[in-house]
Amino acid sequence: MNYALITGGSRGIGRAISIELSKMGFAVIINFISNEAAAHETKQIIENQGGNAELLKFDVTDKIAVDKNIETWITNHPEDTISILVNNAGIRQDALMIFMQDEQWENVINTNLNSFFYVTRRILKSMITKRFGRIINIVSLSGIKGLPGQTNYSTAKAGIIGATKALAQEVASRKITVNAVAPGFIISDMTKDLDENSLKAMIPVGRFGKPEEVATVVGFLATEGASYITGEVISVNGGLYT
Ligand code: NDP
Repeated sequence: MNYALITGGSRGIGRAISIELSKMGFAVIINFISNEAAAHETKQIIENQGGNAELLKFDVTDKIAVDKNIETWITNHPEDTISILVNNAGIRQDALMIFMQDEQWENVINTNLNSFFYVTRRILKSMITKRFGRIINIVSLSGIKGLPGQTNYSTAKAGIIGATKALAQEVASRKITVNAVAPGFIISDMTKDLDENSLKAMIPVGRFGKPEEVATVVGFLATEGASYITGEVISVNGGLYT
């Protein structure tokens, strides 16, 4: 079977991406860290629609756990391939730089940026062997324009944008594309503390986006038809100036 691995696939944007890729015919591996209930719910939604989904719990910041879980999965699935990787797991821990604690910096860099390296290098091996792959990184408007109070998060997301462009050139000849999708304000647990009513005034479309509106673009990048798009960053932000 042809699998898609979605890190942080249990909730929010990751859930919508898992459902979208399942509808496109991929079996889905839903990674998560702690929210078993949400992960099971996503799996159930996919199965109710006739799709295939598996849960794979590991912390994307723990490189030993990443290696162990992915290698075990590969050993247990000798006939299967992970041809789509969506690096979506992420957190924000905002603070003005002068007040930012070491752990706020480190947690955000580890979860949003280092995880990209730990997970992608493991999946890349088999993509190179199979000579096909789609790597899609969920970044952010914050990584393009920078947002005050998010030096940690803007740094992490800008870092992945650089990595997307570099890796795209390394693996293009193997028919592997590497792209980034940069959402603006999307309704999810991550943004539930933000006031949509006051923030929507600056969004030309006049509202926060839905997770499904990000998932649609990820789905498109995963298609065969998107094979000439690589090293690109696609914004999904309702026209917010970037
Ligand atoms: P949510 O907070 O709704 O979901 C976060 C997901 O990441 C959950 O599935 C969570 O798992 C998982 N996760 C967090 N830490 C880890 C970890 N260490 N290891 C494995 N999984 C982990 O976030 P969103 O859906 O809003 O965000 C998804 C991505 O989109 C993130 O990269 C975010 O930065 C980006 N983004 C979001 C925007 C928005 O407005 N919402 C805007 C721009 C970018 P669990 O359920 O187990 O906790």
